[in-house]
Amino acid sequence: MIITRKKPEEALLSMLQGAKRVAIVGCGSCAAACQTGGEKEIGEMKAFLEARGFQVAATVLPDECCHKMLVKRDLKVLRGLDVDAVVGLACGDGVQTVADNVDLPVYPANDTLFLGQVERVGIFHEYCRMCGDCVLGVTGGICPVTRCAKGLVNGPCGGQRNGKCEVDPENDCAWVLIYRRLEKLGKLDALLSPTGGRRPAAHPAHLNLREVRK
Ligand code: SF4
Ligand code: SF4
Repeated sequence: MIITRKKPEEALLSMLQGAKRVAIVGCGSCAAACQTGGEKEIGEMKAFLEARGFQVAATVLPDECCHKMLVKRDLKVLRGLDVDAVVGLACGDGVQTVADNVDLPVYPANDTLFLGQVERVGIFHEYCRMCGDCVLGVTGGICPVTRCAKGLVNGPCGGQRNGKCEVDPENDCAWVLIYRRLEKLGKLDALLSPTGGRRPAAHPAHLNLREVRK
């Protein structure tokens, strides 16, 4: 899931300077689960903006704000409305997808943090940096690129103490976790597998399954 957090209110109000009539677009998927873009948060944003003198001309809640066709369909309600700006309550992907579909300024109400595991409602952990060359097969299913503070694929560094990371002692050292996990699985020999020479990720990335399947 893409994890988002509400931007400070002052940051949003600063972006909205000069706008009077706005539309609010949320996201019924990840942002709803992060409590940053669901029905409740749209209602709260509407009340917040109205209390500061804005007119909210429309609110829209696509099931997934990163889905271009869904967003295009749902944003049809904005046609013909007198709107100065759109406030996006989604991740950065969702806000850009809204921007692709309207000729209006679109302002993010959230900051996009990471791709995370949902431990339980409201508790998230970063687990993948989407590096494009997954090494989980030789690291016991624990990602060093993300869960090692230095992104080392040949750790541990010399700094771990009692299994904790030198960069943030609140965190377990990813490489100690990896070692223990592989030991438990009887697969310590995986540590001899090469993780170097990894394919560098190029951005922006694209994937077209129609071409891949040819
Ligand atoms: S190695 Fe880590 S960052 Fe890369 S794809 Fe796998 S889980 Fe994601
Ligand atoms: S202590 Fe462990 S997790 Fe922290 S930077 Fe070093 S290898 Fe990575």
